[in-house]
Amino acid sequence: MTKFEIHQFICRTDNYGVLVSDADTGLTMSVDAPDAKRIDEELEKKKLNLTHLLITHKHQDHIDGIEYLKNKYNCIVLGPESEKDQIPHLDITLIGDEYIDFSGSPIRVIETPGHTLGHIVFFFEREKILFAGDTLFLMGCGRVFEGTHEQMFESIKKIRDLPIDTVIYCGHEYSLANAKFAISIYPDNENIGNRYEHIQKAVSEKKCCLPTTLERELRTNPFLMYDDPVLKNKLGKIKSTDLEVFSETRTQKDNF
Ligand code: ZN
Ligand code: FE
Repeated sequence: MTKFEIHQFICRTDNYGVLVSDADTGLTMSVDAPDAKRIDEELEKKKLNLTHLLITHKHQDHIDGIEYLKNKYNCIVLGPESEKDQIPHLDITLIGDEYIDFSGSPIRVIETPGHTLGHIVFFFEREKILFAGDTLFLMGCGRVFEGTHEQMFESIKKIRDLPIDTVIYCGHEYSLANAKFAISIYPDNENIGNRYEHIQKAVSEKKCCLPTTLERELRTNPFLMYDDPVLKNKLGKIKSTDLEVFSETRTQKDNF
């Protein structure tokens, strides 16, 4: 249960904008700023005043709208300490295991290096909601641009250790492409097959596939299934470590 209203919408081509608001206090946060105009439209439509802007990482498709939103709303901008030189208008920099208060709710900052070295994700501990940015996607994980596969693996493990009923919002709508890859390596996995069909239907009806839950990801996201003997076997890595299986999955997806 959550006292927050969460409003999610597509920005640019496949980025997600997401607003979290508390009607009682009037506080509203945006996770990332992919598109100022789109976010502003949604704020106006919902009659919300943007008070907080939380940034997961420095890529342009996550910071593009900061300047406009900061100027219009004078919101507090928070983002990763180690990317502060690449993210404009940061008021507060964040490091791992630090807590932010949002409308009386504790949010844990979790460092998830891999996609970028400074990438952070936001976990609403009480509500069990994770904003995963470009670290984890529905049935997928972020490309490893800056870190090593080992760093990404450790980051993904941190997410896998969250409560199983955690609701997960992601930075992009990549579900269909991810499901196609998952089914290619797991053609006879029933959970993955069912989910693939479900996603195809949702996409054809122009519906968002997100949010997801950790429970569903554990059963259908190959990047969280690195200890599954079936996956190890499929990849010809039956004697390999979890890290090696994860790394091979990441490499195969890069070349898919
Ligand atoms: Zn990114
Ligand atoms: Fe992105």
